[in-house]
Amino acid sequence: MQTQNRAQQGEPEIADLEWEPYNSARGGTLRIAATSCCGAVELASRAGQYLVLRPDGKGSYEESRHATRHKAAATYIALVHEHRRTHVDQGERPEYDPLVDGLGMR
Ligand SMILES: [Zn+2]
Repeated sequence: MQTQNRAQQGEPEIADLEWEPYNSARGGTLRIAATSCCGAVELASRAGQYLVLRPDGKGSYEESRHATRHKAAATYIALVHEHRRTHVDQGERPEYDPLVDGLGMR
């Protein structure tokens, strides 16, 4: 079972995340640390808080906030893996992603 496999690898349960509409008026400068292929997922920080952004399908974004960079990065990586399945399903090779494939975050 896939869900079980993910849990065994220590990845967060994506389904359990709480997403809220991205609000650009919220204080602090948004810094993007990583953007996945197709812009499907972005890892960012704002005022010392780490967050993961994804398109909401309606022309805007939604965000999931995390207390630590580690947790936000783990969520980013899990979501990129999920997104990549859509490429693999179409017989495409996923694009290289520094955060997922090895170099990590600076
Ligand atoms: Zn993609």
